[in-house]
Amino acid sequence: MAGWTITPLVYGAIEVKKEQITTGLDVGLAVKVPYLGFYLTNGRRKVLCDTGINAKYIVDGKAWAGMPAEGGERHVLDALAHVGVVPDEIDMVLYSHLHNDHAGNSHLFEKAVHVFQDAEWKELLDPLPSMMIRGDFDQSLIPMLKDMNRQRVAGDVEILEGLKLIQTPGHTAGSQCLLVDTRDGVYLLAGDTVHVAPIAYPRMTRWLQMDGSVLEITPAPGHWGPAVPSSLVYDHYAWYRSIYRIHALVREPKHLIPGHEPSVVGRTFG
Ligand SMILES: [Zn+2]
Repeated sequence: MAGWTITPLVYGAIEVKKEQITTGLDVGLAVKVPYLGFYLTNGRRKVLCDTGINAKYIVDGKAWAGMPAEGGERHVLDALAHVGVVPDEIDMVLYSHLHNDHAGNSHLFEKAVHVFQDAEWKELLDPLPSMMIRGDFDQSLIPMLKDMNRQRVAGDVEILEGLKLIQTPGHTAGSQCLLVDTRDGVYLLAGDTVHVAPIAYPRMTRWLQMDGSVLEITPAPGHWGPAVPSSLVYDHYAWYRSIYRIHALVREPKHLIPGHEPSVVGRTFG
């Protein structure tokens, strides 16, 4: 065991309609989900996963799909301060993917090496029109990352001892999950391959929220299969293959940490 610990960092939050993230279920129900990053340390290395949403993507208090949101640089600095870390101490930033709400504050981490999938870089360089319409990628990231210390990886790689990146396309071409070896087993940080737990666990009926309340939710019918896609799956064939992979790698539900999961707020893992 490499003995990493994982601390979720809250970089803000967005209110979404549940049917946007668990398609067709609980139509009209509003849920507040966090913009998350993760601080990872093994006592020597200080690693960050994702850098949150840039404030320019929140206009008049509204972000993606016109939904109420808060976030930006101040939230990232506060979240890091909460774990006693300043940006210059971060030596590596790993990206679940390069969407604007996961790579929006990378400019804060000038001393770090920035690690992402080659396929994700290519999608950022040449997004489909649908991705442009939605504003998924912030293309000012291209010159910024070119100026920074960056590392492109292709496929699965153990990037540090006890930290393994696995490519899980579907939400984006270069989405990746991170397997983290801890004293409490191997955790999987899913990014937006799995936005929230009820996507990967369709039989769930109770869902812990950021404010500590428990929401009663509708389980998916059995014939829906192993997962409930969100409205943000771009390649369904790739996404289901990624889901099968994730399910095979995660021993218990507690070891899966989705990219916008409210129930992980305020906790530490490992
Ligand atoms: Zn995304």
